[in-house]
Amino acid sequence: MKALVCLALFLTGCSGPSRGENAAMEEQFTVMRDTMIANQIAARGILDPKVLEAMHAVPRHKFVPEEYSREAYEDYPLPIGEGQTISQPYIVAFMTEILRPRPGQKVLEIGTGSGYQAAILAEMGAEVVTIEILPSLAERAQARLTELGYGRVRVMTGDGYRGYPAEAPYDAIIVTAAPERIPEPLIEQLKVGGRMVVPIGRYTQELKLLRKTADGTTVEDVLPVRFVPMVGEVEK
Ligand code: SAH
Repeated sequence: MKALVCLALFLTGCSGPSRGENAAMEEQFTVMRDTMIANQIAARGILDPKVLEAMHAVPRHKFVPEEYSREAYEDYPLPIGEGQTISQPYIVAFMTEILRPRPGQKVLEIGTGSGYQAAILAEMGAEVVTIEILPSLAERAQARLTELGYGRVRVMTGDGYRGYPAEAPYDAIIVTAAPERIPEPLIEQLKVGGRMVVPIGRYTQELKLLRKTADGTTVEDVLPVRFVPMVGEVEK
């Protein structure tokens, strides 16, 4: 049947949806995105307008493999290949809200994955450096970010355990793969007055908010979470 339809459409071209169909699909995605923001994000108490605006602006469906694009606005994480996942939308919003990135601030992310979290931070005006240990994901994320207008995000391939000293210190650091302890080099690369959000633990994990002050650091448990484990040097 599909072949017949293709045959019938041959003269007008059968290479995928037409421009009109694409525009209609994009409109549907926008509706799904706004429903997600209302029902999953705002309804659960994330009220920072800057976070909500960024979630509205970034097309999450472009950050998941095509076969999952219709699920991009559902209330759960999704596979992005290589056994990794893009976080549940609420978790991205929650972490962003407590990280409090301000325009012009320098933010380091460990665990680029799809690049979605990095795009949200860039949309909020932060200068983003993000590190991904798996080269194939890093490459795809950089290409996607550039295509979507977030080409200023710098995606580095490597082990984020040691951070990225060349650009340190950072106003904020967000870690989206779970180590068992907070990596010391990341604390060192945080500015005094800076904030770090990091999931800690192996089987049960707790999202921690670390604040660096002139006298040291304070660490607060903020939410039980489930992230993929951080791999690499942290395991040694
Ligand atoms: N922030 C991502 C989701 C993170 S999934 C998004 O918005 O899509 C966690 C990612 O951390 C995975 O891609 C995994 O490969 C990566 N990762 C795991 N250990 C790492 C390490 N030591 N350094 C850098 N990235 C790491």
